[in-house]
Amino acid sequence: MTGHDVVVVGAGAGGAACAWGLASAGLSVLLLDAGPEFSPTDYPSHRPDWERIESPDKPGSRGIHAFAPMQKLSPAHDHLRSWNHISGLMVEGDARRGVAYQHVRGIGGSTLHFDAESHRLLPAAMTMRSQFGVGADWPFPYAELEPYYITAETLSGVAGAADPARPRSAPYPLEPHAPGYASRLLTERTRHLGRTWRPNPLAILSRAYDGRPGCNYCAQCNRGCPRRDKGSVDVTYVPKAIATGRCRVLSGAEVTGLSAGPDNRIRALTYRDSAGQTHEVKTRCVVVAAGAIETPRLLLLSAGPHAAGGVANEQGLVGRNLLETLHWTTCALHPESLGTHRGLPSDIICWDFNAPDAIPGVVGGCRFAPVTASMLLTGPVSYATRVVEGWGRSHREKMQASFGNAIAIGAIGESLPDPGTYVDLAPDLTDPHGLPAARIHSHLDDMAIGRIEFMAAECRRMVAAMGAGAPFEEFGAYDMFSSTHVFGTARMGTDPATSVVNAHGRAHHCKNLFISDASVFPSSGGGEAPSLTIQALALRTARAIRDAAARREI
Ligand SMILES: Cc1cc2nc3c(=O)[nH]c(=O)nc-3n(C[C@H](O)[C@H](O)[C@H](O)COP(=O)(O)OP(=O)(O)OC[C@H]3O[C@@H](n4cnc5c(N)ncnc54)[C@H](O)[C@@H]3O)c2cc1C
Ligand code: SF4
Repeated sequence: MTGHDVVVVGAGAGGAACAWGLASAGLSVLLLDAGPEFSPTDYPSHRPDWERIESPDKPGSRGIHAFAPMQKLSPAHDHLRSWNHISGLMVEGDARRGVAYQHVRGIGGSTLHFDAESHRLLPAAMTMRSQFGVGADWPFPYAELEPYYITAETLSGVAGAADPARPRSAPYPLEPHAPGYASRLLTERTRHLGRTWRPNPLAILSRAYDGRPGCNYCAQCNRGCPRRDKGSVDVTYVPKAIATGRCRVLSGAEVTGLSAGPDNRIRALTYRDSAGQTHEVKTRCVVVAAGAIETPRLLLLSAGPHAAGGVANEQGLVGRNLLETLHWTTCALHPESLGTHRGLPSDIICWDFNAPDAIPGVVGGCRFAPVTASMLLTGPVSYATRVVEGWGRSHREKMQASFGNAIAIGAIGESLPDPGTYVDLAPDLTDPHGLPAARIHSHLDDMAIGRIEFMAAECRRMVAAMGAGAPFEEFGAYDMFSSTHVFGTARMGTDPATSVVNAHGRAHHCKNLFISDASVFPSSGGGEAPSLTIQALALRTARAIRDAAARREI
């Protein structure tokens, strides 16, 4: 198959945005994704078994990955173990455990089950090395990303409110959602602690916009939005890219290798379709956007005569610098009826400790939000298995008294590079095509544990200040790797000795290869959700490809 200017691998946050940017700039694009296409009726909200399905799920929508053994846990940190009052410790034994890289394969990628938080990075979070002596700096200033943030917010339909601490050059396209009752209570009852809460910017429509209806506040965003008002990229960039007439989208097309020629250029790629047939696509330009775990895997799998050790891996950096999700959540029952089984996940946010120097004693910030719906505490099965103990009549009575009263406060913090945290190829796990799976290594240093410690203490303080009872469940990154936000495995930078791609996502040596997903982040930010930044970067990369095509470099 030939005839496309650019082939984009992966139709998630980065790939879909890049494909739209390229197609709307006049280039022809083939967008391939390993996973299936989803429609609103594929999501479980209308089905009797809806609670059993935690995420959009169809054949082919989950990849596989392995974990290397992780570090020993210290009894000194037992207060950071993950537990539930009915089922006990979530991680048995005395070692940290790899649980999951949370993702969806499909047209829309992991945005199919995201909460649609749409955050910009704090400018200071982009200069971690020069200002704070850790991690790496971004190779360009915040101001260069700003116009692309505006485009990404407009295309996704972000509802938000101005915040003097987070500069922006134009208002959000949509007015913010009104906070729910529990969030108003949280705001009021944590004021004496000095906490300030703001409407959380969300790519969830607060009114009809761009041909999509407003939200109905059903709290099922993680299971897939049946109304298509949540701005997952399958309902935003993908249809807009197709509408240009220059973007062809193929689902069930898993790219298994890139072939580099002797001239430092990718000549072709191969993919397998859902029937198991192998196809070769010759190409002038490739954008890899398979996510921060699968992108390094694909580059490493593509080792060949002209790419020893993997494509773009001249310095052995592909897969290094993995940044994971450092998180903590405390869940408790409130005596009042809060109605937390409905509404929006994370309708407000606290940025008080988001700056890189805001947490005493450690470098790297964090943020807090109510996360009851994201913790899937929205239905009777979750209450009966996680919240309310026992059987029979007393159980039924407790269920009636408790339903809708659960409150979960969650925190996500900065993740800094660690030599023990990276992705390589698993020696002992292969996918259905017989290719090695990605293997995730993760190690938390003292500063990371210190950040989790701070987040846990604050979550507990806030839950108590709300007037809730003792926690019934807590979990965090101290004893498990269960990451929703992953970054950094093909870092961007100006120096080819310390980065894989340049400031425009272009491989330093392989001139027709670009990377356009969370892999390129030099730093994670202090808990900001990444998708908006991934999209803004992807639009910037699309611009660079268009310019390179105009100069006949690709
Ligand atoms: C439960 C949950 C909640 C979240 N909430 C938020 C939130 O509120 N806000 C936010 O900003 N972020 C959120 N995230 C994170 C966000 O979804 C991801 O950070 C983002 O989607 C990553 O974008 P990406 O382009 O790097 O990868 P992805 O969106 O994961 O896209 C990668 C795509 O590549 C495809 N692919 C992989 N390998 C191949 C291959 N070999 N060939 C072809 N295709 C391939 C996959 O099928 C996938 O579609 C959440 C994530 C989870 C799991
Ligand atoms: S709460 Fe709104 S955005 Fe989330 S699934 Fe329901 S309708 Fe969609």
